[in-house]
Amino acid sequence: METSPQRILRTIFGYESFRGDQEAIIEHVVSGGDAVVLMPTGGGKSLCYQVPSLIRPGVGIVVSPLIALMQDQVSAMQQLGIRATFINSTLVWDEASKREDLMRRGQYDLVYIAPERLMTERFLSCLEYTPLALFAIDEAHCVSQWGHDFRPEYIQLSALKQRFTNIPCIALTATADPPTHQEIINRLGLGQAERYSASFNRPNIRYRILQKNNPRKQVLRFLREEHSDASGIVYCLSRKKVEATATFLSENGFSALPYHAGLPANMRQTNQERFLKESNIVIVATIAFGMGIDKPDVRFVAHLDMPKSLEGYYQETGRAGRDGLPSDAWMTYGIADVVLLRQLLEGSNAEERIKRIERHKLEAMLGFCETTTCRRQALLSYFAEQLAEPCGNCDTCLEPVDTWDGAVAAQKAMSCVYRTGQRFGVNYLVDVLRGKQNARIEQFGHHRVSTYGIGKDFDETQWKSVYRQLVAAGLLAVDIDGHGGLKLTGKSRAVLKGEQPILFRKDPVQTGRTKNKVQLQKKSSRPEDENGKALWESLRLRRYDLAQEQNVPPYVIFHDSTLSEIVTYRPGNIEELQFISGIGESKLNRYGNAILEVIEKHDAEWGCPNDIPTLAALSPKRGKKEVVDTVAVTLELFKKRNTPAQIAAVRELKSSTIYTHLAKAIEAGEIETTEVVDFSDIELRSIECAFEILDSESPMSLRPVFDVLEEKYDYGILRCVRAGMIVRGDFPAISV
Ligand code: ADP
Ligand code: ZN
Repeated sequence: METSPQRILRTIFGYESFRGDQEAIIEHVVSGGDAVVLMPTGGGKSLCYQVPSLIRPGVGIVVSPLIALMQDQVSAMQQLGIRATFINSTLVWDEASKREDLMRRGQYDLVYIAPERLMTERFLSCLEYTPLALFAIDEAHCVSQWGHDFRPEYIQLSALKQRFTNIPCIALTATADPPTHQEIINRLGLGQAERYSASFNRPNIRYRILQKNNPRKQVLRFLREEHSDASGIVYCLSRKKVEATATFLSENGFSALPYHAGLPANMRQTNQERFLKESNIVIVATIAFGMGIDKPDVRFVAHLDMPKSLEGYYQETGRAGRDGLPSDAWMTYGIADVVLLRQLLEGSNAEERIKRIERHKLEAMLGFCETTTCRRQALLSYFAEQLAEPCGNCDTCLEPVDTWDGAVAAQKAMSCVYRTGQRFGVNYLVDVLRGKQNARIEQFGHHRVSTYGIGKDFDETQWKSVYRQLVAAGLLAVDIDGHGGLKLTGKSRAVLKGEQPILFRKDPVQTGRTKNKVQLQKKSSRPEDENGKALWESLRLRRYDLAQEQNVPPYVIFHDSTLSEIVTYRPGNIEELQFISGIGESKLNRYGNAILEVIEKHDAEWGCPNDIPTLAALSPKRGKKEVVDTVAVTLELFKKRNTPAQIAAVRELKSSTIYTHLAKAIEAGEIETTEVVDFSDIELRSIECAFEILDSESPMSLRPVFDVLEEKYDYGILRCVRAGMIVRGDFPAISV
């Protein structure tokens, strides 16, 4: 059998073409070269070692730190008909040694293994007798001591290259920063490896940052308005907040589950599993959650607290939208975050050198929050990548922020800090500025300072915004004794004296709100959209059942992107189905009929819209002509006096499909209703009456007519009757 990468991509994975560097990487590894691959989450790293493992003789050894996910990864491979397995500590001894044995005999294409097991002498010597295709080191940044995810076992992996000199080694990571990149190369002994680095832009993720104002309510509204039925992650800084938020969201009707390192292991595991296997779980978590989660259909990542660095932010938000479908990175941010993170940082007992780095990272994060230009440009430029144009898919692009001359406000705010002794927090300072009367202010005598009441022109929120931006810009500092007092810094003077101009960001009153309205309007939609939505739901249900039967996550059966293509293109038979992205031979055999059945049943009830795009995009061989032709073929057979049942048998199509074709032909004026259906005038008239009577309730719908006639006539027949009415002008033309 010819085994070109292209062919494997199509027949096994069901994809039409490679993305980005995939093909180059695959060719390089197939020919025996080493590679270091940097690609963002969702970029398609897995194919880069899976395809070469299938082409090169021997087994591909995949090193991954994520034992909990191996089972799902292997299930996904098996669904594609690939001989994959995993070997890790969850297996009993017998089973593990059985698999090792099969491996040695070359019975697998891919073996997933944890690094600590791989690097035992026993296993390494077993590998000496195993035909090896390659080593793939996934999550290679785990080798970096500076990252969050450092795994000591990874350090040992350098021995692989020394011991198995001739076996290609490919290291992969989604961590963007150059120092980590270099560390991977050094520590894994991959100095000679070819380096591939993709753009880290994630165009399908929409970045938004809101001013914090009761974050729980804000997130609730965000979920209700935009993600009422989706998988997502809500990140909070503390365990306590994780639990409180999960409870709050559950009380408000969401399937929200907590996840943090303090929960019992079995609870963590159950919650993670439910997140993977069900389609509408919201995980509320600390950053302990998410490493390596390869669930492709996470539709949003919400931060209720600001991360400490842009690296963290990028990584956490990156868990959204692996499947390339539109997804949200949403965050609330306020002065309290700034104060808290500054305090944590300054108060920690890390070395000054480390603190300096962290300070720098926090500043970059704050700058990102306060930016008045495109967030994506800001984010990418932090990772040394330039995006030429503003992205059009972040809050600052969608609702440009205004700036205002903040010189006077800054002076007032800063002199209030000075006059009150540089030890009070934001709330107190705002009260003084606004001339509030309270016992505390009087106790300190601050109703007599010159800044008392000079800020009545702004409300509380505006002053908080001013302070937040001053702290973010380093013009005020947070003291570290734990009370969150603000004090002046070395940079303050110039602004206080009016020597340095200062521009503030005008916080949008409620970011996201206007856009939501637009989105909601879009939802109350055209009939075609309703039709599509219904099919989408039916497909999801079927997928869920199939997944349940095999105890795998639904995305292992089909990704959302595959279902979404099915809804768009409405394949009518196996030949068409195979052109849908994500459906290779194995899945076609396993699930093709189940999917076609769902479509068939749906079309019978809802009808198939007229404006289905052609499959031409998927294959140059196919074009609109062929889709249209299918009606012509039916019509021709019909004109040769075949009954619908006979045509269905000859064409190996369901009879309801044939009726749909005939209805189209009726609407096009090619034939008459009475030629197709064999009714008396009275009977025909009674069906038409049902359409007319029910038309005011749900115009042209088949379902109510079907019901009112007590399911006596099947949908195909009703469709033909309706087509006849349309031709006569009894209805405005719609799709049949
Ligand atoms: P990563 O490991 O880089 O996060 P994956 O390997 O999981 O990404 O791939 C992300 C998604 O993109 C998966 O759903 C995968 O099946 C899909 N994908 C990868 N390569 C292609 C391709 N060439 N064409 C279509 N889909 C692809
Ligand atoms: Zn933008």
